[in-house]
Amino acid sequence: MGADPVLDYRTPGPGEPALTQRTYAHISCHGLTVIGGSDFVRLANPFSVVKATFCAKCSQMDALAAFVWVDTGEDLRTYRNRVRKAAPAALKIWEIIHITILVLFGFGGVVLGALTGFGRLAVLCGALLGAGLGAVILWPIGRLLHVDFRRYL
Ligand SMILES: [Zn+2]
Repeated sequence: MGADPVLDYRTPGPGEPALTQRTYAHISCHGLTVIGGSDFVRLANPFSVVKATFCAKCSQMDALAAFVWVDTGEDLRTYRNRVRKAAPAALKIWEIIHITILVLFGFGGVVLGALTGFGRLAVLCGALLGAGLGAVILWPIGRLLHVDFRRYL
């Protein structure tokens, strides 16, 4: 483990496979859990909202700091904070822009819904349609910026 968090943020070299699963240990019960699939994608992505994870031994949800990766010994909360700090600036900016644009589109829908004069239902529909339209417009950019964080140990 290097002292420089950016140096620990690495991409597998050519021919080195991205991880498809990883094992973490629950500090309190020492139980091991192998995580894979979409759960692993979400847990590894520090930009996704994950506050707790599951222990396969004691069948309990617990805070991320209560688990450590078996291969590095780093707890999951520290891991996610470190990777987030080291992530490209474009991703951090995108996270803010993305939410702002969704809110603006939703608000635009509210205004348009209110202007129709059909009351609360029109306002609600406007908000949903506005945010939905924003999501559709933003989707290709999100795909372009997508990073598979399972690559980073
Ligand atoms: Zn446990």
